[in-house]
Amino acid sequence: MPEEAGTKNVAAKKIATKAVQIGVGSDYTGAISPPIYQTATFRHPALGESTGYDYSRTGNPTRKVLEEGIALLDDGAGGFAYSSGMAAVTNLLLLFRPGDHLVVTEDLYGGTYRLLDAVFRRFGIKTSYVDTSDIYQVSQALRETTVAILVESPTNPLLKVADIPAISRMARERGIVTIADNTFMTPYLQRPLDLGADIVVYSATKYLSGHNDTVAGLVVVKDEETAERVAFLQNSVGAVLGPQDSWLVIRGMKTLGVRLDRQSENARLIAEWLADREPVTRVFYPGLDSHPGKKVLRKQAKGFGAMVSFEVINRGVAEKILNSIKLVSFAESLGGVETLMTFPAFQTHADIDPAERERMGINDRLLRLSAGIEDIDDLLDDLRQAFDGWEAHL
Ligand SMILES: *Cc1c(COP(=O)(O)O)cnc(C)c1O
Repeated sequence: MPEEAGTKNVAAKKIATKAVQIGVGSDYTGAISPPIYQTATFRHPALGESTGYDYSRTGNPTRKVLEEGIALLDDGAGGFAYSSGMAAVTNLLLLFRPGDHLVVTEDLYGGTYRLLDAVFRRFGIKTSYVDTSDIYQVSQALRETTVAILVESPTNPLLKVADIPAISRMARERGIVTIADNTFMTPYLQRPLDLGADIVVYSATKYLSGHNDTVAGLVVVKDEETAERVAFLQNSVGAVLGPQDSWLVIRGMKTLGVRLDRQSENARLIAEWLADREPVTRVFYPGLDSHPGKKVLRKQAKGFGAMVSFEVINRGVAEKILNSIKLVSFAESLGGVETLMTFPAFQTHADIDPAERERMGINDRLLRLSAGIEDIDDLLDDLRQAFDGWEAHL
């Protein structure tokens, strides 16, 4: 039965293998691909008896395969699937109460910032934004009322790296929970719970599903007690992932390892190519020797990921590049097999105060690229033709 999903797959030791094996033989038919249980409710065998499933908000066998799968990959006590990454973050924030204080990465995903600043602040949750790549800044921001540190690492869009073991250690000593948004790395490259964090959150819309075809969120927690609290909130709030979308995420996760290998390699080659271009003033890629977070990331992760941000000489050149790319799509989001480019200041981070944005380096010259799995020659050809004639836009 579905609860035993994966029990035959104990031979899988590596993350890429575990990811492929998610849901294999998950029900009595032995289906290799887990069935989509498209049902809202379940028949009770008798009064007071249950098959383990009663109603699909509370639990659905297809969603369960995904939830157990991500918990296995991240080495957690429980996994939870939501209708979006923001729904997952919202569910976690509901663990807190008015007066609680959070220390949060300053250049984090714009939607998380908006949620904290425009929604949870109204409910009395206080937030300090700091550069979490600097442990001193994190320690200075802690208050009596601090209950959690929310780190995104590498950050979006500047790819700053937080030392997750050091932050978790400091937090633990003070009874503070560490939450890591691991969207950019996935368990294939980085496993925050093994590094000391208590909770991991994902926009599964990105690398985990990997095909730009669904919106989903996941949470993994380290201990049973928190798992129970999160399960209660997931069922109470109800922003759960449907069976069809759960299946899409499972299907995407099977190729996580090969996709990320190729995407990371493409990202590295693109970053190196960009670093040699005349109108490019800075390249942000943690795999480059010039990146201040390279050493820390190498210690705590198995790779540098597939996101590259770069700054050009002026806004005109940035716009020219965006208007000229053909193979690379000018689109929000990231992590899928198709290479995408976006303009963070005007899209993903438009809700942040302009002066604050400029201070952090998310300016009108910064572009962010999510490397896909296309042939690198085609990607570089497209970028080359998009850069051609940039001098006319000075
Ligand atoms: C996209 C994203 C989110 C939000 O997820 P959705 O699935 O879009 O709701 C949260 N954190 C990071 C780092 C993201 O990239």
